[in-house]
Amino acid sequence: MKKETAVRRKKVFPEAEGRQALEEILARSRRVVFFGGAGVSTASGIPDFRSAEGLYRQTGPDPEMILSKSYFYLDPAGFFDYYRRHLLYPRARPNAAHRRLWQLEQEDKLRGIVTQNIDGLHRLAGNQRVYEIHGTVHDNRCMDCGAFFPMETVLNSRGIPRCRCGGVIKPSVVLYGEGLDPYVCIGAKREISQADTLIVAGTSLSVEPAASFLEGFEGKNLVVINREKTPADRRATLVIRGGVEKVLTDETEQEETTMDPKREQQEQEWADRIDEDSEETETEKTYRDGSLANECWAQDRENV
Ligand code: NAD
Ligand code: ZN
Repeated sequence: MKKETAVRRKKVFPEAEGRQALEEILARSRRVVFFGGAGVSTASGIPDFRSAEGLYRQTGPDPEMILSKSYFYLDPAGFFDYYRRHLLYPRARPNAAHRRLWQLEQEDKLRGIVTQNIDGLHRLAGNQRVYEIHGTVHDNRCMDCGAFFPMETVLNSRGIPRCRCGGVIKPSVVLYGEGLDPYVCIGAKREISQADTLIVAGTSLSVEPAASFLEGFEGKNLVVINREKTPADRRATLVIRGGVEKVLTDETEQEETTMDPKREQQEQEWADRIDEDSEETETEKTYRDGSLANECWAQDRENV
């Protein structure tokens, strides 16, 4: 009976009230850690996976299958076609949530950002203490000689991107079936365990082991900001239903600075290139009959 009352009293707020409650918590906190997912970047024009407009709801191949380790080795050309089209957003810019987090880091209130996102927008916003537990599209390595390549190399290549030495250039993003970088995990978990306030935002918490990182939080305030319910709501001290970019907006914030025109032109070229390539490929057509998917899953099962 007692428990039920506690659940009923749980603070679930819409955006405006939630924002005020969050500011009160932030004012009292000294070690804030932010744990985010794809929802943090939807306001920057990058679709998430599980929302109504997310990649999972779109027709076409199953993203979890194509973004898997076994698929990468089975059909690298198909992998890169999909990857360029659906995971690279050269024109995306940090939104109000990213910018507020930068400000909180400047104030030394925010101790770290643990992100499942691979878009690099927290770093672009200026944050330094960022744990990109699923890697980043901005780090690409030759699988033979280890040479580094920026995102643009992958974006401007056709088919399988290759290094001068002939090796395949592989993005340093964690594919389904691959392990997380242990050093990044250690740092991320340490930050979470030392935080007094943990903000969990824009994530369905359905990807493991990322979601289990929250178990190490022992601080006072667990704040969840998400458009939909999440498995962490039960444990949270404050649940805010709404857009993270709205809840975290700093009212004094100025308009976004305009982009360098040269950079803008370059980005337009990349975007045109992607549009040109965006017709369904032969490989994608074969996904439809399921034969590649079956082969891929069979291989995954063998690897387990
Ligand atoms: P998800 O798609 O499973 O869940 C996103 C959640 O965010 C949903 O519950 C949705 O309701 C919520 N949401 C969407 N927009 C929001 C907003 N503006 N404010 C508040 N909530 C919002 O994403 P996930 O949990 O991060 O897991 C998906 C996996 O895919 C992760 O591993 C992630 O790395 C990867 N991914 C990354 C990007 C990116 O880098 N931007 C984009 C898509 C997927
Ligand atoms: Zn090489």
